Amino acid sequence: MKPLVDPGLGQVRIRVEASGVCHSDAGTVEGSFPIIWPRVPGHEVVGRIDAIGSGVRGWEVGQRVGVGFLGGSCGYCEFCRNGDLVNCSNQEFTGIHSDGGYAEVMIAKATGLVRIPDDLSSADAAPLLCAGLTTFNALRNSPAKAGDLVAVLGIGGLGHLGVQYARHMGFEVAAISRGVDTAELAKKLGAHHYIDSAATDPAAALQTLGGAKVILITASGGKTVAATFKGLRPGGLSIALGVGPEPIEVTSMDLIFATRKVEGALTGTPAVGDATLRFSALSGVSAMIETVPLDQAAAAYAKMMAGKARFRMVLVTKNGADQSSPL
Ligand SMILES: [Zn+2]
Ligand SMILES: [Zn+2]
Repeated sequence: MKPLVDPGLGQVRIRVEASGVCHSDAGTVEGSFPIIWPRVPGHEVVGRIDAIGSGVRGWEVGQRVGVGFLGGSCGYCEFCRNGDLVNCSNQEFTGIHSDGGYAEVMIAKATGLVRIPDDLSSADAAPLLCAGLTTFNALRNSPAKAGDLVAVLGIGGLGHLGVQYARHMGFEVAAISRGVDTAELAKKLGAHHYIDSAATDPAAALQTLGGAKVILITASGGKTVAATFKGLRPGGLSIALGVGPEPIEVTSMDLIFATRKVEGALTGTPAVGDATLRFSALSGVSAMIETVPLDQAAAAYAKMMAGKARFRMVLVTKNGADQSSPL
């Protein structure tokens, strides 16, 4: 047990109701980031503010809020001053530099908070703060316009949301995954086309459809990424969202002829977090979740790491059991 502490300058204290289990939690558990243990993982956190530190404005006790991977910008570094809050030089990562949401209570920086619409439950909202924000933000800022062909590579925790957002944003959507088993699910999520990358060359299949304006890469294998790259139409963009150790190999030939691009995207700002949740509530986009009590966090994490989650595990606490109860 950790002692209950008061929020400091610029911070709020949150009674956690739900906390999504994300693959990036391996950064905390396995220490793939430089980290000082013990550290509580969890960066898809929804709860109610129960105490507000000094210097915090715009948030109220009792308000339901979310915390994502980016723990909050500083407001004074070069990047913040240019409005690029995601790349703030002093950004802390939730669950890496500070304790995250696999807990009853957490302390969060007010500049990182996201608003939770009333019509989303805490468990439904949680995965949208990382997996949702990441896919929504990448698509929203992409060069694709309504009617353009957008491909989503990988139908997992990120991809199953990416397909839904792409559909609701008005794109022609191609889902790419291995095997025939996923075809039905991909169509149900809103994909117009399903490409089985185990049976066909996904790049050729995309070219048959006219070439993709954007490929959202939610799988982490570098080879899988390379195999779809030539499926981009001229000027098209591949956006890498899934982190993995394997390098992405594309030839300069495939980059230069047809002026294709590859870029990375890192979640999004708290304001885009607000938009992600609002858009999800409006359009009915939701993560397929399995809720697990907080005391079974280790088992939920193991299931996610084994690739057996369909598709997001969400830890729920007793705080969220009766949402009408006073704080
Ligand atoms: Zn995450
Ligand atoms: Zn900054």
